[in-house]
Amino acid sequence: MSISERFLEVKKRVDEAALRSGRDPADVRLVAVTKTHPASKINEAIEAGAADIGENRVQELLEKIDDVAPVRWHLIGHLQTNKVRQVIDKVVMIHSVDSLKLAREINKRAAAAGSVMDVLIEINSAMEETKSGIAAGDLKQLVTEITAECESVRVCGIMCIPPIAADPEDSRPYFKEAAELFKEMKGWDLPAERFAPTELSMGMSGDFEVAIEEGATIVRVGSSIFGPRNYR
Ligand SMILES: *Cc1c(COP(=O)(O)O)cnc(C)c1O
Repeated sequence: MSISERFLEVKKRVDEAALRSGRDPADVRLVAVTKTHPASKINEAIEAGAADIGENRVQELLEKIDDVAPVRWHLIGHLQTNKVRQVIDKVVMIHSVDSLKLAREINKRAAAAGSVMDVLIEINSAMEETKSGIAAGDLKQLVTEITAECESVRVCGIMCIPPIAADPEDSRPYFKEAAELFKEMKGWDLPAERFAPTELSMGMSGDFEVAIEEGATIVRVGSSIFGPRNYR
């Protein structure tokens, strides 16, 4: 199958999972994850209808962006504070905020650019040492601190990556937990200009349908669209 065929196939599965769970397919956004894949392949997906593209690393995003058709870029991987300046005017959303320090740097750079950056807070669902993200129990404090002082940052929800699983059903408890936390978050009384919790970013190639059933508003799908990755 070509990349465009695979993209359309994944899009169809996304829509069907939404309908199956009584949701509007328009409420679930498919971010095509392109790490390790060249601009030419990304453009194939864009031609097939991909409107949101996700990259993990700043360097890789910068290397490709000029050769890719205009599209909404998402930074989904761990972000170092010293790289923020380079992506602040390139991406529509940063999915991986996990410290006040990082939020402050995003705030500083967004303010300098005269913009407001939409961010998600990354939750480390199983508290795996190899993954970034904060504990669920620390979410409220971090969001309260960010919204209190970062005028050029808007906290739009949470992102999570459950442990790698062979069976998508193994991810369900983590997705349920994230959805609970997201629901709780929606009730927090924080400044509306800096706090708009509308996005729950969860689900990858192996488990995006389960994630949608549990309430994901953004799924991040790579290998099901672009094939396996060869890391350099
Ligand atoms: C690579 C990656 C994905 C996509 O993973 P696939 O299993 O290839 O769909 C999603 N989210 C993040 C944060 C990633 O790094």
